[in-house]
Amino acid sequence: MSVPPILSLDAVSKRFDPRLTLGDRIAAAIGGDVETRAVQAVRDVSLSVAKGETLGLVGESGCGKSTLGRIAAGIMAPTSGAVRLDGEPVIGADGRKHTTRIQTVFQDPFASLNPRITVGDTLAEGPIAHGLVTAGASRAYVAEWLDLVGLDPSYASRYPHQFSGGQRQRIAIARALAMKPDVLVCDEPVASLDVSIQAQIVNLLLKLKRELGLTYLFISHDLGVVRHISERVAIMYLGRIVELGPTLRLYESPEHPYTQALLASVPRLVTSDSDLAEFRPIAGEIPSPLAPPPGCAFHTRCLHAGPRCSAESPALLATRTGRATACHLYTGGVEKAA
Ligand code: SF4
Repeated sequence: MSVPPILSLDAVSKRFDPRLTLGDRIAAAIGGDVETRAVQAVRDVSLSVAKGETLGLVGESGCGKSTLGRIAAGIMAPTSGAVRLDGEPVIGADGRKHTTRIQTVFQDPFASLNPRITVGDTLAEGPIAHGLVTAGASRAYVAEWLDLVGLDPSYASRYPHQFSGGQRQRIAIARALAMKPDVLVCDEPVASLDVSIQAQIVNLLLKLKRELGLTYLFISHDLGVVRHISERVAIMYLGRIVELGPTLRLYESPEHPYTQALLASVPRLVTSDSDLAEFRPIAGEIPSPLAPPPGCAFHTRCLHAGPRCSAESPALLATRTGRATACHLYTGGVEKAA
């Protein structure tokens, strides 16, 4: 990457230990059936996002991408590893986020907006608290951000329930932008919207990125949306990045068997019998993060798996095609299935 990274994640891991009630502890002590294993949601992830870049983060539900997004945004501390913005730690030694330069847009805008507070107060609250605007000047400040996301400034006096889903997501974006961030972590920002509205929000994010010089970490399970918005894509499986590379190259010639299976499993518009034959769901279920398979976590579903795959975890290494892939097929010892 020629442009220095603005956001970098260095060997980030996140483990969730089970919360045992007193009853659970007693049951466990007498040999009862109580789940005591930790969930390893994110495992040793290193990523960089260049200034002005959009990095897409893709994976199935439960792969750890939202947890990784929260860690990248500084709203969740990693168990180990570090997140840096322009080289400075995002989370301080006290475990708290120390910057407003990273903001987040979530999937469900209704859940993230307080139903009892007007849109104007919602947008003004953070900027006033952080000294970005005075209370006296906040009305004009709010009007400016509403206008930028395509909403009438008069909407500032209304409440969240008075808006459609797409409008509420615009409000959530305006609230994030009013904090004047450099980086926006978008976690499934269009997943709860109708397809036509999804396109409007994606186009709005592209426009805002151009006009404000923003950097995005864009998290989604939707490969089509990610392809449209991202310059590079990271594919995540059971807490690890398995492939990382420029969007077009990765979509046109995926290297990792999971990326290949993921792209082949996307339903397409069927115009002929051959199109129908191309739709191939990934075999098997995603394993539980409570007990990820040893070695390569994808080996239980991989068509190419060999003995090395269940014994040794592949590292994410640069390949000759200018991307990084975590698969023994590219380091020897495993033959590609015909
Ligand atoms: Fe498949 Fe083995 Fe590569 Fe994992 S390391 S993706 S199991 S070939």
